[in-house]
Amino acid sequence: MLQDAFGRSFEYLRLSITEVCNFSCTYCLPDGYRKKPGPGFMRLDEIARLACGFADLGTWKIRITGGEPSVRKDFVQVIETLAATPGVRRLATTTNGYRLNKNAKTWREAGLQAINVSVDSFRDDVFHKVTGHDRLAEVLRGIEACLEADYDAVKINAVLLKGINDQDLDLFLDYVKHRPVSMRFIELMRTGDNADYFGRYHVSASVVSEALERAGWVRKTRAAGAGPAVEYVHGDYVGSIGLIAPYAKDFCKSCNRLRVSALGKLHLCLFTEFGMDLRPLLQADDQLDELKAFLGKSLQSKAVSHFLDDGITGGNHRFADIGG
Ligand code: SAM
Ligand code: SF4
Repeated sequence: MLQDAFGRSFEYLRLSITEVCNFSCTYCLPDGYRKKPGPGFMRLDEIARLACGFADLGTWKIRITGGEPSVRKDFVQVIETLAATPGVRRLATTTNGYRLNKNAKTWREAGLQAINVSVDSFRDDVFHKVTGHDRLAEVLRGIEACLEADYDAVKINAVLLKGINDQDLDLFLDYVKHRPVSMRFIELMRTGDNADYFGRYHVSASVVSEALERAGWVRKTRAAGAGPAVEYVHGDYVGSIGLIAPYAKDFCKSCNRLRVSALGKLHLCLFTEFGMDLRPLLQADDQLDELKAFLGKSLQSKAVSHFLDDGITGGNHRFADIGG
């Protein structure tokens, strides 16, 4: 069991498999992905060993992320490999929805159980402005394909952006009225290189929580082991709402996740300065015990909080580099 010095258990791994992305979201990769020199992303065999190590230590949920995970040519094999790892009971991904319409069924059949699709706006022009792509209709068709393919959970992620989508709560709510979809609003996070953008567009998630409460939405009690999202439900809506407010007091108390970047670095928090290189421990099957010992020991240095309120952003320059 992976436990840190503050008694938090870590049963959830966010695993990035690529830094490459075909979108250029203004808050993440405003100039699009640019290839960097250096080692390539983790290979399938390294990913398989990594998953075994974590699963042996009690990790039962893995979210595949990126960059855009689906740009990897072996994405279906990655899904199959992780789904077949003993101990992994929940396999999810976060995607920008590119070609989701064509792939939703294949990924589901390969073993993917849950999917988060990023949709920052239900207005075509705003979606285009934020992502650099005129693909809202295609992404929405992809979400319908996920519902048809019977995923266990379909969620939509929207980063709250002042003056861009924060006035459109009704459009988001309309979407979940008759669909079993959870709409998740994520507060924009400051990273090492978005200080100006953050100053201009950050809006507190309390804007949404106050509007939801006025409209009769009810906050669900947090289930044991639940992550940091605050969930809201409403009797007139099939879907639900989740709020992810990293600047809220006590956000880190319920931290239950670890991150591994596409380059095989363990990040104890999204905002730590450095990742710890796991790759040398992923080269042969007989390194499993060494890997597990390293993971257990490393976790003891996890800090109690991200200290974002103190202006600390760590070494995370862009979420696409580590997976968000
Ligand atoms: N490409 C996929 C996607 O966009 O869904 C997966 C990777 S993306 C880095 C994961 C999540 O991080 C997305 O929901 C994205 O909106 C979010 N994200 C990226 N940069 C962010 C920031 N500065 N603050 C808050 N969320 C951010
Ligand atoms: Fe790409 Fe996702 Fe970042 Fe947008 S948020 S640029 S889709 S990695």
